[in-house]
Amino acid sequence: MPDPIIIVGAGQAGAALAARLRSLGYDGPLVILGDEVHPPYQRPPLSKKYMSGELDIPRLLIRPASWYGEQNIELRLSTAVTEISPREHRVTLADGSRLSYAKLALTTGAHPRRLPAGMGGDLAGVFTIRNLADVDALAPVLDPGKNLLVVGGGYIGLEAAAVAASKGLKVILIEMAPRILQRVACALTADYFRRQHGRHGVAIRESAALLELPGKDGRLTGALMQDGSVIEADLAVIGIGIAPNVDLAERAGLAVENGILVDGSCRATAADIYAAGDCANFPWRGTRTRLESVQNAIEQAEHAAAAMLGANKDYDPTPWFWSDQYDVKLQIAGLCRGYDDAVPRPGRREGSQSIWYFAGERLLAVDAMNDALAYALGKKIIEAGRSIPKAVAADPAADLKRWAV
Ligand SMILES: Cc1cc2nc3c(=O)[nH]c(=O)nc-3n(C[C@H](O)[C@H](O)[C@H](O)COP(=O)(O)OP(=O)(O)OC[C@H]3O[C@@H](n4cnc5c(N)ncnc54)[C@H](O)[C@@H]3O)c2cc1C
Repeated sequence: MPDPIIIVGAGQAGAALAARLRSLGYDGPLVILGDEVHPPYQRPPLSKKYMSGELDIPRLLIRPASWYGEQNIELRLSTAVTEISPREHRVTLADGSRLSYAKLALTTGAHPRRLPAGMGGDLAGVFTIRNLADVDALAPVLDPGKNLLVVGGGYIGLEAAAVAASKGLKVILIEMAPRILQRVACALTADYFRRQHGRHGVAIRESAALLELPGKDGRLTGALMQDGSVIEADLAVIGIGIAPNVDLAERAGLAVENGILVDGSCRATAADIYAAGDCANFPWRGTRTRLESVQNAIEQAEHAAAAMLGANKDYDPTPWFWSDQYDVKLQIAGLCRGYDDAVPRPGRREGSQSIWYFAGERLLAVDAMNDALAYALGKKIIEAGRSIPKAVAADPAADLKRWAV
């Protein structure tokens, strides 16, 4: 029996990688090792419809649990990999057993940044949202009337605020930066979402620096801000970003720098080791990039699968992303990084709008709020490597279809 291909991490990328290996015709032994108890599941609903109780676990699963067996894939759950020995082509599991691999894929994802214990990060009532277990602990205590503090105005914090406000909690969101979504979107998009939250009673405080989360008897009581003010809170959700899971790779001597460094074919810096998804840092259009999205987890994993079977092509994605808050669906095509202008375009329906990001005259990205048409056309234009004049983007009467063909 030849050694298997081993995938470490049973998440979005791990599942996509295994599926692509099989669909490309690899019929050799294939093992997925995952440290969670559930088969690979989708994380986006964790801060959306799973948190609000509208979705159950079976509908989160990327594939039914039976699919892995049917595909002759050995899915080993509750199984953490503790060590990789690249020279021996071997991994060690938490129970001390060892497995040899022919090729290894690291799809270990990321973990949420936490507040240090000295700032109250360990108090009861303080939550992060990354895993099903996190939300299974949080959702049952989201009772109407409670005070929820959300720390961090990125997408996960804003989504959690939206769910909690819709459930009748009193929500305050604090953001240290001058505005919400500072890292990922322009001021116009931030303004749009600030208005939505305002309408639903969420108080957003920007340029608001947290000093610590005080507690009593080990339980959160609120937030002490640097300006001396105190916010009362029964619960806190910390949404201050994520860090890639690179410990294993680092200890194995792989090059790591904000993620596991890979080349355009998803190859890490040791023979027969690949990485994809949130944990991988790849070369993209002249710079190094790590993306935190479903699009990237799936497409990069599929790219890695092909590379493991001998393909040799650079991964060159057109990123896309989405966020749901209240009745607004935000769809993002492209990546706005490096933009110098953002042009608003009113949509056809009330409340719909899109924002078109440019670097010089080149279209980089589109944020579409309840405007699926703007998203679809913007994505087509960006994927084709084309652009549109800013005046066209700004003119609601201009027909964008002609630019997308
Ligand atoms: C709350 C939330 C909302 C999101 N919303 C969106 C959204 O709206 N749109 C979007 O595009 N993206 C969204 N994302 C991001 C998206 O879910 C991630 O980018 C995607 O899940 C990344 O896939 P991955 O396979 O790289 O990592 P993961 O899905 O995190 O999978 C990694 C797996 O590896 C396991 N693992 C790690 N180390 C080991 C080890 N040593 N041994 C065994 N197993 C290990 C982890 O426990 C985990 O199960 C959201 C994420 C979260 C948390």
